[in-house]
Amino acid sequence: MEIRDQPYTLTSCDFVFTGQQILKNTNIIIDNGRIMEIGPEKEGDIFSCSGMIVIPGLINAHTHSGMTYLRGYKDDLDLIPWLKEIWSIESKALPHWIRLSSEASIIEMLSNGITGFIDMYFNPKDVAELSEIYGIKVSAGPTFLDSLKDPYEIDKEMREVSTMASSTFSPIINVHSLYAVSEETLKLARQLFEELGLGIHIHVSETREELFQVKQRYGIFPVEVLKSKGLLGPRTIMAHLGWISSWEIELVKSMEAHAVHCPTSNMKLATGGFFPLKEMLARGINVALGTDGPATNNTLDIFREMKEAVLLERQGYWEASVGAKDAIRMATLGGRKAVRLEGGVIERGAPADLSLVDMSNLGPITESNLNSILTYVATGRDIDYTIIDGKLVYRRGLYDSRLKQIYAELTTIQESLS
Ligand SMILES: [Zn+2]
Repeated sequence: MEIRDQPYTLTSCDFVFTGQQILKNTNIIIDNGRIMEIGPEKEGDIFSCSGMIVIPGLINAHTHSGMTYLRGYKDDLDLIPWLKEIWSIESKALPHWIRLSSEASIIEMLSNGITGFIDMYFNPKDVAELSEIYGIKVSAGPTFLDSLKDPYEIDKEMREVSTMASSTFSPIINVHSLYAVSEETLKLARQLFEELGLGIHIHVSETREELFQVKQRYGIFPVEVLKSKGLLGPRTIMAHLGWISSWEIELVKSMEAHAVHCPTSNMKLATGGFFPLKEMLARGINVALGTDGPATNNTLDIFREMKEAVLLERQGYWEASVGAKDAIRMATLGGRKAVRLEGGVIERGAPADLSLVDMSNLGPITESNLNSILTYVATGRDIDYTIIDGKLVYRRGLYDSRLKQIYAELTTIQESLS
């Protein structure tokens, strides 16, 4: 059944993981985009959640949605040579390719239970439009990347995009990385950061080579550079951080900045280093999870990142102090905190952003193994429905024909590249 803009009830949910506790066989009443009640009560239309686990909506805190046309292209290279290949194509890419790519990414993310994402690419106006069409929440903005775009043009575009905030779209300042922009560009970014009061989103300490370059240019480490340039604070979202030093971790903590862990992308691009997840969590630093782009992961499935984040930690530390509950928290609440979105938990008054997981292929499921099942067994393919602001924005199969059509076009585009 379709869910309309009026009170309705998700009934008989086998399990609800609220973010704090697990409830069994309960109902959730939703009205006006928010959770009104959790318990035995019912109101309005009935939507059966029998056979499902309801969790807070997943957030993909770092991606490049416009890169689906490059998925699988020149894979199996190290990051720097890969980037050279990719940037040479991106300098010639047509806007149409990028928009189609973002549309494919959005459909894929919805189908994987993702209710919001942080996007770093060159088509924020497309993404803003698509976010309204598909109902997904997105933070995006144009990206400072000096070899591809004139920074003054990006500054101008950012000012335009900053006026486009809507119920689904929130503007964000994107800086590709410290090694890909000049000091002059960083000044422009800082000016925007102070003037517009928006978040800033940047790749930081992803590779050892980046560290060398930044140290050579500035004499200090990347997070220290961000601090010295006035770009580190509670509105700063840093992706990767695989080569961060112990004293930089303290800076992240004291400045209340956010870290996004992208385990699959780090491994696939052979970036080395080690994201210090245990230390970050122990210090109370907010950590979110990101897939990175469809050309660096190559899937947009946060369930996989949950599992990889924990496994990588255990492989590195030989111990199991970081577990499934941490992974779910990073994938839900962590992402929302990074972009200052309320919610991320299932409680009275919270926005009704929910991912509904089909239990059919995951069993046996008990109250005590539920978090484990969600982290180590489930994938995006187990999502049946995605609800954002109380609206049913995705149900299994809804966009199959559209996605097929887009993939056919993207195939032709990628074939034309080589
Ligand atoms: Zn990235």
